[in-house]
Amino acid sequence: MNVYISATLRSFFDRNAKLEVEAENIRQALDELVKAYPDAKKGLFDEEGKLRGFIRIYVGSENRTAQDRWVIPLTKKDEILLLPAIAGGVPEGSIISDDRRKAVSFDDKEIERFGKHLLLREIGVKGQKRIKAARVVVIGAGALGSPVIQYLAAAGVGTIKVVDFDDVSLENLQSQVLHSSRDVNRPKVASARDSVRNINRNIEFEAENVLLEADNITDVIDGYDLVIDCSDNYKARYLISDACVLCGIPEVFGAIYQFEGQVSVFNYNDGPCYRCAFPTPPPAGLVPTCAEGGAISPLAGIIGSIQANEALKLIIGIGDHLSGKLLVIDSLYLRSQILNLNKREDCEICGKHPSITELADLDYDEFCGLKEAEEETPVEGFTPDELAKRIENGDPITIIDVREPHERAIMRFPNAIVIPIGQLARRQKELDPGKDTIFVCREGKRSILAINTLREAGYTGPLYNLKGGIEAMKDIIFSHEGAWL
Ligand SMILES: [Zn+2]
Repeated sequence: MNVYISATLRSFFDRNAKLEVEAENIRQALDELVKAYPDAKKGLFDEEGKLRGFIRIYVGSENRTAQDRWVIPLTKKDEILLLPAIAGGVPEGSIISDDRRKAVSFDDKEIERFGKHLLLREIGVKGQKRIKAARVVVIGAGALGSPVIQYLAAAGVGTIKVVDFDDVSLENLQSQVLHSSRDVNRPKVASARDSVRNINRNIEFEAENVLLEADNITDVIDGYDLVIDCSDNYKARYLISDACVLCGIPEVFGAIYQFEGQVSVFNYNDGPCYRCAFPTPPPAGLVPTCAEGGAISPLAGIIGSIQANEALKLIIGIGDHLSGKLLVIDSLYLRSQILNLNKREDCEICGKHPSITELADLDYDEFCGLKEAEEETPVEGFTPDELAKRIENGDPITIIDVREPHERAIMRFPNAIVIPIGQLARRQKELDPGKDTIFVCREGKRSILAINTLREAGYTGPLYNLKGGIEAMKDIIFSHEGAWL
């Protein structure tokens, strides 16, 4: 049978992770191990011959540490796991090489600044040097990026590159604690730079104010040790994961929606990638984004902090991490669970026979449904000004609002009939095929899905979309509020 040796115990077994022994139970297996590796005796057992307290023995998920359980018969298929209670201290799995660690030194100020890390056996001077040597890319300086960037800076990560294309807006301040009121309308990367400088001026801060696409992401992340995905849309998530696979860089993934968050580590040590976990994105518009669905303010702090924690553990090389696992946290009911994620052998990019070997192989807009398929009848639309004029003129039109109830609570669309997308086909009798019908949603994407859904259901009347959605029309709506409502 096989015995699996956890990383910190491997030094007693010539660095082997897996050993085969002829044995019928745990007691015999341990005897065989000690016979073959005499050094292991003092590693595993104390002077009285008792198993050292920091070692647990598992068979499958069963704890068999107690000596009376060592005689339970085992079969050849069983695997014994020798697991130290605290996995740490020997930074064997670090993504930062020893040579790079050794090239780092600290001045007195840094020793004082990072004293709380230096006290930890699992981090210490060696771990802190790895943190300083690390070069990390954070994609997205929004809700998740805020805690990630601040904690990486505070922890002393030597080089932090922040990638974001947006300016700070007032509504960002509800969750994006990296930015403050005076940063509104400034680029997020500029605000991020100020925050990092305020925390620690010694950090090499790099900024990329670009929108990531298949033809530029490789240049942005290549040569870095770790990528942290703090983006907020499916296209970016696939692009980031695919680029990390092709560049051979591990990735810490995080996502939030309303009260729920997810964290994982992708593309680490031959583990699964984002595409293994989620082979295809939802059709565009079917699932509201975080911007459309909202999220409770501290959730970004919870999930982003776990991402930063995972990043530091990968850099130092300690602990367990979320490679091959998905942590799901529901902050409303305070439930969390860790689900197993498997690498897919048929994964399009990290599987045995990948069909994507360079990013140009895939049209990410099309894959994520951001492009209208060519065979579909194009959807005609009104601009906010055109729609306003038709309302002003009192034209016989019907306006259908397909947003979720919580979105409508923020801003009602005047004179609109409310029909959620899921009820459209069933409620099409409420529409008058003799009138122009205009669909509205927050950003003008779900309304296109609504129109296509109705057409598929056989509706033949004229259907139009509000271009850019209510977001684009809100100034006009506010200025007419009294007259229209
Ligand atoms: Zn994969």
